[in-house]
Amino acid sequence: MDEFTLIRRYFAARSPHRDDVLLGIGDDGALVKTSAEGLVVVADMLVEGVHFPVDTAADAIGHKALAVNLSDLGAMGAEPTWFTLMISLPESSADWLEGFSRGLFDLATRFGVALIGGDTVRGPLTVAIQAAGTVPVDKVLKRSGARVGDIIMVTGALGGAALGLAQRQGRLSLEHSAADAVLKRLEFPEPRVEAGRLLRGLASSVIDISDGLLADLGHILEASEVGASIRLDAVPADGVFSLPLDDQARDAVLAHGDDYELCFTAPPDAVVSIQKSLAAIDVEVSAIGQIEALPGLRVLDAAGRELALGAHAGHTHFASNEQT
Ligand code: ADP
Ligand code: MG
Repeated sequence: MDEFTLIRRYFAARSPHRDDVLLGIGDDGALVKTSAEGLVVVADMLVEGVHFPVDTAADAIGHKALAVNLSDLGAMGAEPTWFTLMISLPESSADWLEGFSRGLFDLATRFGVALIGGDTVRGPLTVAIQAAGTVPVDKVLKRSGARVGDIIMVTGALGGAALGLAQRQGRLSLEHSAADAVLKRLEFPEPRVEAGRLLRGLASSVIDISDGLLADLGHILEASEVGASIRLDAVPADGVFSLPLDDQARDAVLAHGDDYELCFTAPPDAVVSIQKSLAAIDVEVSAIGQIEALPGLRVLDAAGRELALGAHAGHTHFASNEQT
């Protein structure tokens, strides 16, 4: 199969249609019509053996490559519009391409985001996507807006993807339904796009959790020039874990990325509105701590004692995340 047949058959023909794409795949560049809103542009690259295990199914790779980008757009409060796909393929197996494009376009179609271009080369399996989304410029959600007294919140539950990776790598053998659940968390993360959009005007800062809660909350603290305390027992752990968390489970929940939940801050008087908005779209939200003037990130036990995790503990203090 030649390159142009491949692009037409597996990529161009399957993209959802958008009226604002004036010229899509096929010319030297794409032409899109932009609104008066701001345009958020993000990019993420996945390398086989580094960002996903070698035996990962093609549809999972297609899904995840786009999902991680949509997650970044969600964390900015943006509505996804278009993306480009840069793919390096060792061989063009029809089976693999079929699975990859299914995973990719199932997600693209759900979010109405159109593929408008890219590049296709032969080489080790690598998938890079650049995506764009719109947001009113005064509503964009940044890392830098957290203020002393703000409540720290997290969507969904954490640590499932860490267990999925352990299961995939044979370090863990969960029973059937639990194994399926954690593998889904690892390989088919659900980007929090709608949640991000609802946080416009309510959250003071937002980040998506790709490197682990401690590391990513650390980025908010650094950008906002504040500190924080969180309560370990308030951090939502994936349903697969049994409570209380043992040390390994604590690492998975606090320091492993790949769950792609949102961590955000909001003034106390916005918390009820946020809980209502997110409940309406069936997204769970947990308050886990608050922003403080004292620099650094403190993790407290149920009695309010600080756990010895080290100041600014992030994935550098924990060896659990091999996929950074
Ligand atoms: P050029 O030689 O001008 O760089 P290419 O021959 O690489 O163009 O690509 C032809 C067209 O196909 C372009 O519109 C390009 O954006 C698109 N394209 C190439 N690879 C991909 C891909 N993986 N996904 C989507 N569009 C692609
Ligand atoms: Mg050209």
